[in-house]
Amino acid sequence: DTTHGPILYLDDITVSFDGFKALNALSLTVERGELRCIIGPNGAGKTTMMDVITGKTRPDAGRAFFGSTIDLLRLRENAVARAGIGRKFQKPSVFEQLTVFENLELALAGDRRARAALTHALSEAQRERIDAVLVRIHLREQLHRQAGALSHGQKQWLEIGMLLMQDPLLLLLDEPVAGMTDEETERTAELFLSLEGEHTLVVVEHDMSFINALTRDNPAKKVTVLHEGSVLAEGSLATVQANDKVIEVYLGR
Ligand code: ADP
Repeated sequence: DTTHGPILYLDDITVSFDGFKALNALSLTVERGELRCIIGPNGAGKTTMMDVITGKTRPDAGRAFFGSTIDLLRLRENAVARAGIGRKFQKPSVFEQLTVFENLELALAGDRRARAALTHALSEAQRERIDAVLVRIHLREQLHRQAGALSHGQKQWLEIGMLLMQDPLLLLLDEPVAGMTDEETERTAELFLSLEGEHTLVVVEHDMSFINALTRDNPAKKVTVLHEGSVLAEGSLATVQANDKVIEVYLGR
């Protein structure tokens, strides 16, 4: 059941690599419909946390639930995706030789490797879904363009669009605006704010101007600061920025 209570619940997660704790009793709760920003210095454990959620890394200890009943630690990576968790890595990953539309068409088919899917005729409803996503990711005018000819930012949007074709409940995004222009960053913030509520977003990000943009509609929106594998601080952006421990971690290095 993923309709009540938190959508993501991590409890006391520890991940050790040769005795080094990449995650050290990490606990994190994300409510459905939230847009949660996760920040923290390099090595804080952000990637490892995403790897645990998506079944790529198994923790040594702890619990991880998606909704109230889906035990993430019992699922393989592909089953996590099927359960409704979409992950976007930092680098864009699109089919460069295919058009924007074809990339979305493949993503709709579910299996991004199944090029045979392209030969299937789309229903009117499927066309409408692709069209709605094209508008959302600002690529409606580019639908016939080869993905390889898009700008870096447009490729990132296309990949987010591909994830949206699967209608995920939870989207995990790793530094989505790295390498984007200011204008692309602003449009990405608008996109994420439009997805909030309908989807849950967990965004790992270094760019403070982007985090500012993602919290501008609601200054009380929660931001989580990771450090040395656990949560150092959590609260509004203003609160965590004024937190002495956070200031020390960011400035004391
Ligand atoms: P972040 O994404 O916040 O930069 P990571 O989760 O990538 O942090 O890494 C947390 C810590 O765990 C780092 O010190 C990193 O060197 C270590 N680490 C991550 N993955 C491995 C691995 N496969 N083997 C050994 N150490 C790792």
